[in-house]
Amino acid sequence: MKKLILSAFALTVATVAVQAQAQQNGPETMRPQMTEFYTPVPPVVTPGDITTNSAPSDAIVLFDGKDLSAWTGANGGPAEWDVHDGVFTVNKKKGDIQTRESFESFQLHIEWCVPENITGSGQARGNSGVFLQGRYEVQILDCYNNPTYTNGQTGSIYKQSTPKANAMRKPGEWNVYDIIYNAPVFNEDGSYRVPPTVTVIHNGVVLQNNVAIRGTTEYIGHPKVEKHGAGPIKLQSHGDPSEPISFRNIWLRKL
Ligand code: MG
Repeated sequence: MKKLILSAFALTVATVAVQAQAQQNGPETMRPQMTEFYTPVPPVVTPGDITTNSAPSDAIVLFDGKDLSAWTGANGGPAEWDVHDGVFTVNKKKGDIQTRESFESFQLHIEWCVPENITGSGQARGNSGVFLQGRYEVQILDCYNNPTYTNGQTGSIYKQSTPKANAMRKPGEWNVYDIIYNAPVFNEDGSYRVPPTVTVIHNGVVLQNNVAIRGTTEYIGHPKVEKHGAGPIKLQSHGDPSEPISFRNIWLRKL
């Protein structure tokens, strides 16, 4: 019995000794500086002015309220939507427009508004869209008291991903999209090695949270995966009678 008590005592002493050694080898061997980095230094970016809605200092301004010089017709002709009062409005007779410049990954800010007297219902009510790299549509639609299929409502990745919320402002009020997009990486055979991913914030509300895009956003049929490089931002002219959606304050930061 005495032996057993002595053994237990010896074990306890040994355990305490091991714990003390572990403490010595743990926090005491690390210093705060060992997990602090000083280079590379992130660049200084002057943020936009909230009161004037200006772009950050390193952004590419795609529309500053004056002209469509950064845009072209998606069919190759000039961009002929109507610029007026610091905004531009879809001209449904002139088709889609897209940026002259092509992009890989980016952060895009774009503001849009459907007219106060908008008519139509479902998909035929203020339908437009922002096509990422010219092929993946983030839906624009007036979904204020306007039900439609959920994977085609405002902020959907069209027919692929239903938004997490409906954050629409009333017709006549301006909506804001902030879109963070990561371009895909392709395998040799044209399939995605890393699919494109997108985060969509609408009026400050997250609708899509780092969602993987499965391919082109088709009206009929399934998504198609086709190898591509950099692509433009394309805006959709849907062709409805109720179409005259306006845009303003568009800028992009390459990521
Ligand atoms: Mg659309």
